[in-house]
Amino acid sequence: MARILITSAIPYINGIKHLGNLVGSQLPADLFARYNRARGHEVMFICATDEHGTPAELAAAKAGQPVAEYCAEMHAVQADIARGFRLSFDHFGRSSSPRNHVLTQHFAGKLADSGLIREVTQQMIYSVDDGRFLPDRYVEGTCPNCSYESARGDQCDNCTKQLDPTDLINPRSTISGSTKLELRETKHLYLMQRNLRGKLEAWIDSKQDWPLLTTSIAKKWLNDGDGLQDRGITRDLHWGIPVRRGDQPWPGMEGKVFYVWFDAPIEYIAATAEWADANGLDDAAWQRWWRTDMGAEDVTYYQFMGKDNVPFHTLSFPATILGSGEPWKLVDYLKSFNYLNYDGGQFSTSRGRGVFMDQALSILPSDYWRWWLLSHAPESSDAEFTWENFQSSVNKDLADVLGNLVSRVTKFATAKFGAQVPAGGQFGPMETALIADLGARIREYESLMQAMEVRKAAAELRAIWVIGNEYLQAAAPWTVVKTDPEQAQAMIRLALNLIRVYAILSQPFIPDASASMMAAMGSDDWTWPDDLPAAMRALEPGQPFAVPENLFRKITDEERADWQVRFAGVRT
Ligand SMILES: [Zn+2]
Repeated sequence: MARILITSAIPYINGIKHLGNLVGSQLPADLFARYNRARGHEVMFICATDEHGTPAELAAAKAGQPVAEYCAEMHAVQADIARGFRLSFDHFGRSSSPRNHVLTQHFAGKLADSGLIREVTQQMIYSVDDGRFLPDRYVEGTCPNCSYESARGDQCDNCTKQLDPTDLINPRSTISGSTKLELRETKHLYLMQRNLRGKLEAWIDSKQDWPLLTTSIAKKWLNDGDGLQDRGITRDLHWGIPVRRGDQPWPGMEGKVFYVWFDAPIEYIAATAEWADANGLDDAAWQRWWRTDMGAEDVTYYQFMGKDNVPFHTLSFPATILGSGEPWKLVDYLKSFNYLNYDGGQFSTSRGRGVFMDQALSILPSDYWRWWLLSHAPESSDAEFTWENFQSSVNKDLADVLGNLVSRVTKFATAKFGAQVPAGGQFGPMETALIADLGARIREYESLMQAMEVRKAAAELRAIWVIGNEYLQAAAPWTVVKTDPEQAQAMIRLALNLIRVYAILSQPFIPDASASMMAAMGSDDWTWPDDLPAAMRALEPGQPFAVPENLFRKITDEERADWQVRFAGVRT
């Protein structure tokens, strides 16, 4: 039994995420967690909400709520939707937790002890009316280059010129619109990533088995232009983790907080501590996942994320860990995804374009979405959601191939032989051939799942469903029953066992349908079919079974057309 630590990139707290976000981290991470549990491994699967930073403060202000209350509420909403999609986190934590406060302050203290933190005094824009320093993108004004009137302090969207907020003509706060802005001096902490460049490069070079997408992004940040830059890790905000050096005050940094990008990945560790707390366990219970001097030396750590998060996970977070000088677990394998586009364009949270997680569940059960998203995961390139493709995939793969097999076999068996596994006949050459073919395909499926080749694994699973249909087509128990009812009984006994094996194999992709299939077979034996000939005889003659409710319904052309219009982009 292996010990497997899995983290999904943590979603930001403000608002509900769209399907592109889901398939870029949480869903494939869940697939991998479910698969490894099914194989009998010890799994720790962690996710959380990322709660700090200016966007959370502004979203709370817009909602007329204190930010802590807003975050608590939105965390509950996101946790509820995650349950709806059957995301099987061992813990869904919060980056604002006391555990993350302590750990983030601890790491900052260790980095300072190692001489990797420097203090930088800089001039920043302060908004008198807002009573706060403004991050660059919250300052707007006229572009000095093209005279566009709504250029942001970091970049002009019209001419794409990179800007400093001080470059803008007639600058104003985007929070209040106030023009009472002034430059004020402020002091911040910088993590000296440049000093860690050699260590980071050696570590990345040691990862020969990482996907090219991951290493090429990391190398680009490490080497392009002036190379890896030191990074500000504090901000002048109220909402966040107060700057402290371990458990001591940090003179000169009073009233400041750590930057959200510094504390968010540390939450992977903190959320595991929150898991221990929630289960009444001691510190040793979570440390054995994260500290190689406390039992984590045999842990393999997998991270899942969209490609935009790769730099932070290959450079910034490892810089924090390596720089601390303490034996924390570094990621062993990083699985990154390209983007999922929506119906000829992009998903847009601001314009409400595309399907959001809550909307998806309001129109169809989670298995439909899980299957489409995973079988079309944007791995080697960007992928696109279209309603035609979704309809066709659900109707063919789920309803015609899998659902129809289950329905046809159980209904026929019940009508001809009653609601128990029939006892007659023996498996013949056709059944033996099917078991051999299926066995080979299952081994291939296992290797694709282990390699996190999500699309290919889905295609293999579908092929596994297809060969069951092909067998039934060729064996034709509905015809054979007229001339040789004993042989037809053996065929149906095999087909009922096949349904149970399909439930086990399909569970990581479509857990609800798999549970229905298993329950219909009157079994609760989820043992992985390492020994397939035995697994295909696990349901013994006389075992009662039931005809399950229709596993998957088809999507009609009217529904497809209706949804296409409904999700084109109006949500505010
Ligand atoms: Zn411009």
